[in-house]
Amino acid sequence: MKEACGVFGIYAPERRVANLTFDGLFALQHRGQESAGMAVSDGDTVMVVKDMGLVATVFDERTLSALQGHLAIGHTRYSTHGASEWAGAQPVYRPVGRAGFALGHNGNLTNTAELAEKVGMLPGSVCTDSDVVAELLARSFPETEDLARALQAVLPIVEGAFSFVLMNSQRLFGVRDPYGFRPLCLGRLGPAEAPEGWVLASESPALSVIGATFVREVAPGELVVIDADGVHSLAVPWLKEVAPRLCIFEFAYIARPDSRLHGKEVHATRCRMGELLAQQAPAEADLVMGVPESGVPAAEGFARASGIPYGQGLVKNRYIGRTFIAPEQKDRADAVRRKLNTLTETIAGKRLVVVDDSIVRGTTQRSVVRMLREAGATEVHLRISSPPWRWPCFYGIDTPSCDELLAANHTIAEITEILGADSLAYISVENLKAAIGDDGGFCDACFTGDYPTAVPTSTPVRVTRPRVAMAHQGALPGV
Ligand code: AMP
Repeated sequence: MKEACGVFGIYAPERRVANLTFDGLFALQHRGQESAGMAVSDGDTVMVVKDMGLVATVFDERTLSALQGHLAIGHTRYSTHGASEWAGAQPVYRPVGRAGFALGHNGNLTNTAELAEKVGMLPGSVCTDSDVVAELLARSFPETEDLARALQAVLPIVEGAFSFVLMNSQRLFGVRDPYGFRPLCLGRLGPAEAPEGWVLASESPALSVIGATFVREVAPGELVVIDADGVHSLAVPWLKEVAPRLCIFEFAYIARPDSRLHGKEVHATRCRMGELLAQQAPAEADLVMGVPESGVPAAEGFARASGIPYGQGLVKNRYIGRTFIAPEQKDRADAVRRKLNTLTETIAGKRLVVVDDSIVRGTTQRSVVRMLREAGATEVHLRISSPPWRWPCFYGIDTPSCDELLAANHTIAEITEILGADSLAYISVENLKAAIGDDGGFCDACFTGDYPTAVPTSTPVRVTRPRVAMAHQGALPGV
């Protein structure tokens, strides 16, 4: 099982934090829509509520009012590929120490099988990677006696992507793996001179919605602890020093446009992706449009740089979730039709540039091109603001195997035909980095096959060498 989820944590002595956690999770709903949960402590006991469904389905006023306390963590889960079940919902809880501890995880570990073996768990069948970490922490309690020490003992042997939030009855913890694959930021409630509380969140909008101020990103490899004494960093004896590699796809697609990552607002970087794409792969057209919502900022940029008018050719039903998450291919295709509809008067008789953030299986683009042609478009030129996705992600994004990745199995010309477009171009990796504006420290393995860590070989994920990548990229790392 893999997760690319949203995590949240709050310590605010004078506040009832369950409602604030609800609001924070609601702002992180885009990171996971399968289950939601929170753990709340009043200083003595830890209560956990979690269930399948959206944040607003799992929690209502009654549930929230029963969750008394000033310390909480929360989680929204996005699992992959049919692994959507209650047992995977988080936070994970273990009844060790004074009142137990709870853990929420964003990311995916790469040595789950090895770790599971250490604690005698069967990887994949009965537990998630997050369960394995919780078990390792729980088992180290007899020696370490508290969560801080347990974390210092266990974290060095955990490999892969993890932004964890954890709590016991008294303290809140946040930790990012040394590569910093997944984001995590720190915010403050109240003024700097007299803080009223501290907040951890996957993305900064979850701070804004509860009136917290963004303080900083939790650094890759940093373990922060938050309690009555404020915020402190604890040393972790990591086994080696590594350079940070934030997931570049957070910029291209995952993060909210109003998030701040690497000190930059994501929306502006997406507009810039469109501008660079227009220079890299111009098209003769009458109208530029984005596939709502994630393709829209890059479409704006494309229109600005190309001088072609921008317009809205598709309307999205705003009450529908991300279609990519539907487990079966047929469900996904139907869901695109339910989600998007054409604005015929804008489209009819026009040559269109259609901008979207990514092509994974091609489901969305195939439906979109067909719908636009049915609405009278004379030409459809697809422009994609991330490079061809040719390699599976082991760090928390759903791409189960190369078989399903369109660009891993077909040339650009073949993909253009499969999608029914008149032309197709993807932004280059260099331009994607240039659009973000800093070239240090990204994981772009999904586009390049350059995995920063050893990748698991014993997971159900099959890694084959994509034929197109081999043709275009020369030497590839052995994976
Ligand atoms: P596909 O339709 O399979 O080609 O998937 C690409 C579409 O799904 C794009 O329009 C993206 O907006 C969206 N998408 C890309 N990656 C993901 C992901 N990991 N999770 C959910 N949606 C995604």
